Amino acid sequence: MNEGHTKLESIQAAEKKLMLNTYERNPVLMVGGSGVFLRDEQGTDYLDLLSGIGVCALGYAHPAVEAAIAAQSKRLLHTSNLFFHEHTAELAVRLTEMSGLDRVFFCNSGTEAWETALKLARAHAGVLRAEGRTIGTDFLAMDQSFHGRTMGSVATTHKQKYREPFAPVMPGVEFVRFNDVADLRQKFSSQVCGICIEVIQGEGGIRPASREFLAAARELCDSTGALLLADEIQSGMGRTGEWFAYQHYGILPDITTLAKPIANGLPMGAMLCTEEAARAFSPGMHGTTFGGGPLVCAVAIAVIDTMKQNNMLAQVRDVGGYFKQRLEWLRRRHDCVTDVRGMGLMLGIELDSADLAKRAAAEMMAQHIIINRTSETVLRFLPPYILEREHVDTAIAALDGILHRLTSTTAAMAGQAPAGEQLHG
Ligand SMILES: *Cc1c(COP(=O)(O)O)cnc(C)c1O
Repeated sequence: MNEGHTKLESIQAAEKKLMLNTYERNPVLMVGGSGVFLRDEQGTDYLDLLSGIGVCALGYAHPAVEAAIAAQSKRLLHTSNLFFHEHTAELAVRLTEMSGLDRVFFCNSGTEAWETALKLARAHAGVLRAEGRTIGTDFLAMDQSFHGRTMGSVATTHKQKYREPFAPVMPGVEFVRFNDVADLRQKFSSQVCGICIEVIQGEGGIRPASREFLAAARELCDSTGALLLADEIQSGMGRTGEWFAYQHYGILPDITTLAKPIANGLPMGAMLCTEEAARAFSPGMHGTTFGGGPLVCAVAIAVIDTMKQNNMLAQVRDVGGYFKQRLEWLRRRHDCVTDVRGMGLMLGIELDSADLAKRAAAEMMAQHIIINRTSETVLRFLPPYILEREHVDTAIAALDGILHRLTSTTAAMAGQAPAGEQLHG
């Protein structure tokens, strides 16, 4: 590493040369974290309202997580799925109780959980066909959806940029206008083996499904034996103030997927399903080398038990409700804020310009508050569940100042030079 360069600059240069060009990272080198704060190599603390994209629900360096990792690391890290270990059933009993579903498959990421769901839906339709029912192999997925980066997941993901360079992806997917019941009814047929829905779209801009839409999807699936697949990788595990977002709607899907917060930062995913759906899988049809190992299961158990002991669903509802109220206050103060959406600690505000959203997120970062921009115009908040009202106040005050400054500069500039492009010309 060259002398005279900071550690960050050296790492940046090395990554630029060595790593696949897939990420646009912020020029910050993170070395630690505690509670709701991340710390960079210079000792600066950042208020983290994104928690590693909805992952670190208990924040950083949580004692229960550290203890579970330490204890299990001394006992056993890996067994393979050729043997039993003591934590699989312990975790499965919790997840089935929390979800209202019957059976669990563990894996290592969100996209792997979603691939499992797609495969199960296809296999289940095959079982129904063998029993004489009329049901095809197609999926309906939603506009603005995001389900991950592997071939089946990108096939059900709406954004063309994520899908088209990799064509041909999995065939048999048609997109439906999200929350458009008429479009859903029109595109549904006995050709469909599954309807794919994020109960609250995450990457798509924090857009909750409407009650009518989710109810219509449930009813259509019931009419043919197709499965309702609820992707709760971002919205599940308490993020919205219920264990699963579908519980706000009183609707039970046939399949749901979890990942992001389940092991608070260790890679883990899970697919949960009904007994009826589960009968489509038999030994050897699906599997994973690392999935559901003793370490991640022990940590997920610690995460769930900590959430229960500390009554965190109520805390998420309380602080999330307060956060949303403060965002509504921002909307009343700033014309550029056109919508406030979400539930619990899965929140977003829509701004009237993509450029403004980009600059607002960057300025928050400059003030050491981490948020992100998704779906061009949406500022997204996915903070740790341990967030407190004072943190909300800090963030809202910062955002209020930033929006005020950015929009008054824009207005002033617009006043001086109505033809914006001619500023440089
Ligand atoms: C993040 C996310 C995924 C993909 O998860 P990975 O762990 O990145 O594969 C899938 N679905 C939703 C709703 C997500 O938010």
